[in-house]
Amino acid sequence: MTVRDLTILGCSSQQPTRTRNHGAYLVRWNEEGLLFDPGEGTQRQFIFANVAPTCVTRMFISHFHGDHCLGLGSMLMRLNLDKVTHPIHCYYPASGQAYFERLRYGTIYHQTIQVIEHPIKGEGLVHEDENFRIEARYLEHGVDNLGWRVKEKDTRKFDKAKLDATGVKGPNVRILEEKGEVIIQGKNILLDEVSRIETGDVLAVAIDTLPCQAAIDLARGARLFLCESTYLESHRDLAEKHHHLTAKQAAEIAKAAGAEMLVLTHFSARYQDVEVFVREAKPIFPNTFAAEDFRVFPF
Ligand SMILES: [Zn+2]
Ligand SMILES: [Zn+2]
Repeated sequence: MTVRDLTILGCSSQQPTRTRNHGAYLVRWNEEGLLFDPGEGTQRQFIFANVAPTCVTRMFISHFHGDHCLGLGSMLMRLNLDKVTHPIHCYYPASGQAYFERLRYGTIYHQTIQVIEHPIKGEGLVHEDENFRIEARYLEHGVDNLGWRVKEKDTRKFDKAKLDATGVKGPNVRILEEKGEVIIQGKNILLDEVSRIETGDVLAVAIDTLPCQAAIDLARGARLFLCESTYLESHRDLAEKHHHLTAKQAAEIAKAAGAEMLVLTHFSARYQDVEVFVREAKPIFPNTFAAEDFRVFPF
C-alpha cells in the first residue's frame, strides 16, 4: 500500500516558537506530495521529518501572509538543486501574483525545474485528473485567502466472487465496464450486479479564517479536516480582530461539516501547550487532534 498521511512540518502562526515552526503541511497521497503553505524554514523541516522534499508535486499557498509562503522560494530552489524531473504545480490567489514572483525569483538561481503557475482567479475546480479533484473556496481573512478540498476520485471495485460466478472474464470484463452490461451464454450481466462504487476520500484545509460557510462546505464529509485555531475562546476578541478561529469555532465547523477527523493547527505563540486546544474542541468534536511539528497523521 502506498503512503497516505499528513505530516506536520510546522504549526505556529505568525511567530514561531522553540517547538513550533511556521506552518507547513505535507500530504502524501496517491503517489503525490501536496505541500500546503510552506512557511519560513520548511526546507529544513523536511530534514527533521526525515522526508525527501523531492516527493512534492504540488504546492498550495492559501494567502500571502509571510507565515504561509516565506518558504516557497527556498523550496523551489531545493527542488531545483535536487534536479526533480517532474513538474511542480503551484496554486495561489491570482491577486498575489506579484508576491509569488518575488518569492520565486527573490535570489540568484539557475532554474532547471519545470514550475507551473496556477494563479486562481475564482472559486471552484482548480485541478482534476484520474486521482484527484481539487477545489478552492475563499475564506474570510481580510485578504484573498483560499481553502482547499482535495477529493479522491470514486472508483469502481469488482466483487471477484460475484464476477467469477457470472463467468465474465478476460476482455468481457472491459466490455462490461465500458457498456455497463455484457451477455454471457445468453444471460445479460449488469455491471452493478458484480461491482460497486467506492467513494473517494476527502481532505480539506482551512487555514486563517473567521467562521464561514465556505469552510463548512470545504470540509463536508472530510476524512481529515486540517483547520486553524490560532486562539482559545478566552481570546475570542483577538480571534475576531485578526480574522482567526478559536478551537471551539474550528470544532463547530468540523461538526457542521460532518467531518470524520479534525487536526487543529496555526497556534499563537502565546500558548505553550497545544493540548489546551484539543480540550476546548473535544466536547463539540470528539475526534480532534492537535498538530505538533513532525507529527504524522495517517488517514
Ligand atoms: Zn497565518
Ligand atoms: Zn493570515
